[in-house]
Amino acid sequence: MKITVFGTGYVGLVTGSCLADVGHNVMCMDIDAGKIARLEAGEIPIFEPGLAEMVARNVEAGRLTFTTDAQQAVEFGVLQFIAVGTPPDEDGSADLQYVLAVAETIGRYMKDYRVIVDKSTVPVGTADRVSHRVADALEARGVELEYDVCSNPEFLKEGAAIEDFTRGARIIVGTDSERVQELMRECYAPYNRNHDKLMFMGIRAAELTKYAANAMLATKISFMNEIANLAERLGADIEAVRRGIGSDPRIGYHFIYPGCGYGGSCFPKDVQALARTAHQNDYNAELLNAVESVNYRQKQTLFQKLLRAFDGELAGRTIALWGLAFKPNTDDMREAPSRTLMEALWSAGARVQAYDPEAMHECRRLYGERADLSLVADRVQAVQGADALVIVTEWKEFRTLDFEWLKAQLSMPVLVDGRNLYDPETVRQAGLMYYAVGRGESL
Ligand code: NAD
Repeated sequence: MKITVFGTGYVGLVTGSCLADVGHNVMCMDIDAGKIARLEAGEIPIFEPGLAEMVARNVEAGRLTFTTDAQQAVEFGVLQFIAVGTPPDEDGSADLQYVLAVAETIGRYMKDYRVIVDKSTVPVGTADRVSHRVADALEARGVELEYDVCSNPEFLKEGAAIEDFTRGARIIVGTDSERVQELMRECYAPYNRNHDKLMFMGIRAAELTKYAANAMLATKISFMNEIANLAERLGADIEAVRRGIGSDPRIGYHFIYPGCGYGGSCFPKDVQALARTAHQNDYNAELLNAVESVNYRQKQTLFQKLLRAFDGELAGRTIALWGLAFKPNTDDMREAPSRTLMEALWSAGARVQAYDPEAMHECRRLYGERADLSLVADRVQAVQGADALVIVTEWKEFRTLDFEWLKAQLSMPVLVDGRNLYDPETVRQAGLMYYAVGRGESL
């Protein structure tokens, strides 16, 4: 099949290259000429395991091409995927300007039947708005052409995006058209061989499914953080509690890790956008609002623990950070807890010495050169000359640590662990003060 993908970010590039990898002919379009130039030069603008190799082999095979030419992109594929950003607007609702701009582009240049496949995460009712935008653009040209709009939300996780796209639990398509169903079946057939993963439903249900899934996952995290904060005050170990509740199959072990708050490009904005949708429809989404405010508070927790460790005086201190990305295996720092922590430390007059295996360039892009930030080459350099160490992202390489060695590096024996990676007893035996999340005496 000939397929066009608008947007070459985390979702668009993964979608385009995975679809090319199973034999489709894919053209990826982006308005960011710099990004397209890098892609054409064989450079991948984001870190995503396996993606560079996949892009290279499909470009080589001639199945994957890149363009900034909107007309060429619209003329290319019968399926026109929209995978552009939907950042939060000032009031928390999803900003649809990029999605609607693509709709208008498609209406402006299409010559034959097109299916507009919305992969971006968009509020319920957006498919209607996309459809109207296409209709307006066609009317302005004075032509009548057939098209359909369907919703195909994406559930991939950064860091495991290819695995999730190719072996996802389900492929959701919101449409009431049989013609669209057939085309989407053909598109996803290579991923649908073992058992039927395609779930067809109404467009509004598909749009809501994506928000409901992210809101549920964010709820699990905020719930565990709430219990962890309580455990801390009660002298109970949240890690024991986590194992205790996870053993109940109705609860399960997945996604119930306490930590320093969720970040990333999706959970924060999607929870906010769903709450906003609720508000616009005269419904007070009390649970969603609480999930959001618990997370806001949790993102301050690392700074609060440091304040306690240093008796409220952080000015002039150097704090080592291990991890900047919002989670391991990505270079994405959107809404990352590391940013909340660094910004609070800088306001308090402290210096940050940080290391992340993949997100250093992103950190440099976000904050530029500043006297109170040193980005260093490895985890060892990060702690040299530092007063305390904070674990912010649970990269695999941080899971083992020689605590005696660490104590010798730090001017104060303070280890703040935002991911509960270590055994409190072992850390304390090495003479370190250990501040984890919800682990009894760590207050
Ligand atoms: P991103 O910011 O990484 O990439 C968006 C890309 O779209 C950018 O390269 C931008 O230049 C491009 N773009 C903007 N306007 C354009 C236009 N008119 N034509 C062509 N390209 C245009 O975004 P992302 O993280 O890939 O997310 C895209 C969508 O997918 C969002 O709605 C997001 O909520 C959703 N989503 C993201 C993830 C994730 O893990 N990142 C997972 C599932 C769903």
